[in-house]
Amino acid sequence: SNSDSLKLEVRNLRKTFGEFVALEGASVEVRAGEFLTLLGPSGSGKTTLLLAIAGLNEPDSGEIRIHGDLATYLPPYQRDIGMVFQNYALFPHMTIAENIGFPLRMRRWSASKIDEAVSRILEVVQLPGTENRYPRQLSGGQQQRIALARALVYEPSIVLMDEPLGALDKKLREQLQYEIKRLHERLGLAMLYVTHDQEEALVMSDRICLMRQGRIEQIGTPEELYFRPKTRFAADFLGESN
Ligand code: ADP
Repeated sequence: SNSDSLKLEVRNLRKTFGEFVALEGASVEVRAGEFLTLLGPSGSGKTTLLLAIAGLNEPDSGEIRIHGDLATYLPPYQRDIGMVFQNYALFPHMTIAENIGFPLRMRRWSASKIDEAVSRILEVVQLPGTENRYPRQLSGGQQQRIALARALVYEPSIVLMDEPLGALDKKLREQLQYEIKRLHERLGLAMLYVTHDQEEALVMSDRICLMRQGRIEQIGTPEELYFRPKTRFAADFLGESN
């Protein structure tokens, strides 16, 4: 049913840092199989919103529901969420297997189950046999695949990605865009994806949220937001430089 497919609900989330209001009542919903993109200029609150949803920064007020259950203050490892951080954020002193296994250790999986899951996900991201290498021994694109593997390894229903392709060159970016889309479809994920690349948002997304100054100003399909000249979306955004 419709309500079963609703994986993530964020209601009226507010987050301040001292006097500064980083999120001012952000609300958004993501369904199973949906690819939703947050698009907005630097400083508009995109990362703050993802970190709150992942349980890595605590909102001042508002509500987060996962599979309909209240999760606003659950620890990160009790959430059915995988996250890809900006600039990969791999642990440099840990092997690839230890990096990918990290969220599984937080969830108290056994060593043998972890090894199995790590090998399996390394096949999925097309880097089998790299378990004992270190991040610095891999290329930028390969490190990004490891970051994807770490987010997907415990088979979460919800995946958050914070500008996962921002550091890569154009060709690699297009290839990984395609792979992320394929994984999203194959696994039926509820995806909340952050970019400030408009073209990327257009080709990847079922719906786009335009964020500005801690608020979600508009939500719609790419067609609704972009290709209908009546909305302010295109005019506003084409004027922004990132
Ligand atoms: P975006 O991801 O859209 O670029 P962020 O969510 O990173 O935006 O940041 C939103 C605003 O909140 C920025 O002005 C940033 O400086 C501020 N901010 C984010 N994290 C902190 C923090 N830990 N302490 C103080 N200010 C922060």
